[in-house]
Amino acid sequence: MRHLDIVDLRADYGSHTVLERINLEVGKGEIVSLIGPSGSGKSTLLRVILGLLPPIAGEVRIGGQTIDYRNKRDVKAIRSRVAVVFQQYNLFQNMDVLRNVTIAPVKVKGRPRAEVEEEAKLLLTRVGLGDKLKSYPDQLSGGQQQRVAIARALALKPEILLLDEVTSALDPELVNEVLDTIRDLATEGMTMLIVSHEMAFVREVSSKVVFMAAGHVVETGPPKQIFDNPQMARTQDFVGKIL
Ligand code: ADP
Ligand code: MG
Repeated sequence: MRHLDIVDLRADYGSHTVLERINLEVGKGEIVSLIGPSGSGKSTLLRVILGLLPPIAGEVRIGGQTIDYRNKRDVKAIRSRVAVVFQQYNLFQNMDVLRNVTIAPVKVKGRPRAEVEEEAKLLLTRVGLGDKLKSYPDQLSGGQQQRVAIARALALKPEILLLDEVTSALDPELVNEVLDTIRDLATEGMTMLIVSHEMAFVREVSSKVVFMAAGHVVETGPPKQIFDNPQMARTQDFVGKIL
């Protein structure tokens, strides 16, 4: 079943078209990875899905339902169905770990604190931080902070998780703990659209890889095709440079 469906999507920044005729499907429980040079429009695509930049043309469908980005109710609904984690984790520095994870479900969704806290503790245990509930962000490593950010996104019980270069700001020795967390989510069947430069990881976890360049989808295929036998010259060029 198609969970996230992007059809002929176009988005502009002012007079500059940054995404053109983007087509992409993510099945339920599938992991699709977006790769491509810097500036190719990967982050912009995630921003459009979240309603942070309204599309000029085309459609985004979630579970078969077309999102009307001019409709505030639709945009609000999408923010609770789709969660995002960015490269910069932006935790609240003045709140402990538990509070960072519970604040949105309690304040935005109005859910009972005790119930949300129980769920948050489970989530934090799941990302390996069950013993850090009372720590503050500046007492944690970058990898730990990024895992708090992932737990915070999951606390909203999203159907779909978008991850934008979540390991790019981390020291190399901290990358794996975050990738392990993502691997676990994959095993549990979370639908994910991932932007990542960790090509070995992309190759391992993705059911499909989408190569973008200059605002277009150049090639889509299983990791084996994209990395071992790319069909398009631009994909060959990119893969040749990074591997
Ligand atoms: P990627 O994530 O693949 O590196 P981006 O989606 O960030 O690429 O950027 C795609 C294009 O959009 C680039 O040409 C970039 O300069 C431009 N761009 C990104 N953000 C903005 C913005 N806020 N205003 C204007 N142009 C932007
Ligand atoms: Mg980006």
